[in-house]
Parts: sequence; structure tokens; C-alpha cells
Amino acid sequence: MQPTKTPITVAVGDGIGPEIMTQTLRILEAAGAAIAPEFIEVGEQVYLAGHASGIGPEAWDSLARTGVLLKAPITTPLGGGYKSLNVTLRKTLGLYANVRPTRSLYPAVFTRHPDLDIVIVRENEEDLYAGIEHQQTPEVVQCLKLVSRPGCEKIVRYAFEYARQHGRQHVTCMTKDNIMKLTDGLFHRVFMEIGQEYPDLGQDHQIIDIGTARLADTPERYDVIVTLNLYGDIISDVVAQIAGSVGLAGSSNIGDHGALFEAIHGSAPDIAGKGIANPSGLLQAAVLMLVHLGQHEVAARVHNAWLCALEDGIHTADIYRPETSTAKASTAGFADAVIERL
Ligand code: NAD
Repeated sequence: MQPTKTPITVAVGDGIGPEIMTQTLRILEAAGAAIAPEFIEVGEQVYLAGHASGIGPEAWDSLARTGVLLKAPITTPLGGGYKSLNVTLRKTLGLYANVRPTRSLYPAVFTRHPDLDIVIVRENEEDLYAGIEHQQTPEVVQCLKLVSRPGCEKIVRYAFEYARQHGRQHVTCMTKDNIMKLTDGLFHRVFMEIGQEYPDLGQDHQIIDIGTARLADTPERYDVIVTLNLYGDIISDVVAQIAGSVGLAGSSNIGDHGALFEAIHGSAPDIAGKGIANPSGLLQAAVLMLVHLGQHEVAARVHNAWLCALEDGIHTADIYRPETSTAKASTAGFADAVIERL
């Protein structure tokens, strides 16, 4: 008997989005994932059709039905009047925790940091991404940094719980509270308070600038990092890039009213339409989604096949190195290699 398929909402995105989504869904189908995708349109076309938020009412209906969104990156048109769809989705669905795991795949994928294994837990609704920006005068603009105690408590507790449940040893908090004493200071203070409930876990605080420098130099010293929205966005790209490529990392956005899974990178317009993008980030997001849906066996099968393809040296252009790669694969070619290894 066929397992009941769980409805999920799927947004194919902009730029390289449709290319990497097509291949990700092919792999999921070949692996026997029990999902029934409902496709919605979000992003560039929806913005240009006049929805300033980049998402229309039918898409919200689907999200209300499924509570799960697998989303390829979208392009936010430049200029005023458009809101970031990502920010809108995170705020509307209450997606307070953005979890970004990155692990070195050395020697399959070259990195100078073979022991890198970091999970960044990023606050996802507040900080400078709360979307509160004003034009004060023609020459002065303002963006408000919003940080609340309930918001800090939720994300800091999430990070400690995540560490415990996933057998992690240490949680590092990064803020700039030497300068932003109230906002970042509150985040740091809540970290110290809640940390007392987790004496089994190592914990420390680092100022974000020296923390980022150490992270780029000796990432193997870090385990779980919890931080504010903007810092988390930036350092997760740093970590993914020094592990091999921003094209490798996926993320989950977890909330009270739903969950969203996506690659950490953007729509990469510079390589869109060329069929060379790495689908790994979105595929890893899909693996996180399958775990979220309780489909652990399929998730493990996809993850292992993906690792085998990389270990066999089948690499898209972003991670290709003549010394270690055996083939320079297209997006579809890489997906074929994963499917052959399922
Ligand atoms: P980007 O992440 O799209 O690209 C940065 C660099 O990484 C580019 O050289 C690109 O070619 C490369 N790259 C990214 N993903 C890759 C992949 N899968 N395989 C191979 N190479 C890859 O960042 P950007 O150029 O600053 O942003 C482009 C657009 O994406 C912007 O409109 C931005 O707003 C949007 N964006 C969307 C999201 C999202 O939807 N979650 C996230 C970040 C940026």
C-alpha cells in the first residue's frame, strides 16, 4: 500500500530557483518521499503583478492548509515599495528560529577546515530585519532595531534545547553588546539567564566582530552558535563558504504556525539559466523537511546518496577542483548521480 502523502507547499522561486527545485523534486520522488506538492507562485512575477509583498492570496491559502513550505530562493526587486517576501513569510508564519547546520565534507569537498561542524541558530523575526524602516527627511533614513525579551527567550531556549537533543556540547552566543547595550545587551543577558538551566552544556559569549574573525580562522572551535537575525544571516554564509560553497547549505525556519525550508543562498542571477547551479543547498533543506515530517528513512536515504555522489567526485562548478573531482556536473547531472545512488 502506498503511504499517505503529506501535502506540502512548494515555491520554485526566481533565478536558479526553478532549476534547483526541479532537480530536488526529482530526487525526492525517486527516493519515495511521501509528499504531495502544491505549487504556489511567489517572488519577482508576483511583485511585478502588483503585490508589494511578493505573495498573493492563493499562496497564503495553500500555506494555511499545509503548514510546510519548501522554497527556492527568490529575487527581491531593487528599489522602494517592495517588501522582502522572506521577511513577510517569517513574520506571518511566526518562524522564530532559523537553523543553519554546516558540516565539512572533506576530503569529498575541499575546505581548509576538515573538522568544521557548526549549527547556527539565528533569531528570525526581530532585530534590524523587523522591517521597520522610515524615510525621515529626503536625506535621512532610519531602520529600527527591535529586540524583545520574549523573542530572546524563545530563540535562546531553542538553541539550548537543540544542542541537548542533538548531542552537542557547547553553545556560543554572539552579540555586539559593548556598543548596543540595550538591544544586544538584552540578548546576552537572556543567554546568561537561560544558560543556567543547562549546566550540562558548555557556554560562552563572544563579541560578534572578533567572533566572526575566529570563526573564519578556526571554525572547528565552534559547535552551536546562537545570535541575532542580521549577524546570523552574515556568519552563516561565511561558515558555508569556508566549508566549500554557499551552494551546499540548507536551513529550516521553525515556528508556531508552520515551517519553511530553503537553501541559505540567493537566486544567483549571475548563473541562472545555465544549468550549472549546485542543487545541494535546497536538497539539504528538503532533507530537513523530511525529518520534520517524520520521514526519517527517506531523509537518510537522500542524504546518504547525496554524500556518495560528492564522495565519488561528482561536483558542480562551484566546488569543482581538478585534484579531487572526477566530473564537472550540471545541475541535472548531479541530480542523476544522486538518484543512481539512492
Ligand atoms: P546569491 O547567494 O544569490 O549569490 C552569491 C554568489 O554565490 C553568486 O556568485 C552565485 O552564483 C553563487 N551561488 C549562490 N548559490 C549557488 C548555487 N546553488 N550553486 C552555485 N553557486 C551559487 O547572492 P546575491 O547575488 O547577493 O543575491 C541574489 C538575489 O537573491 C537578490 O535578489 C537577493 O535579494 C536574493 N536572495 C534571496 C534569498 C532567499 O530567497 N532566501 C536569500 C539571499 C538572497
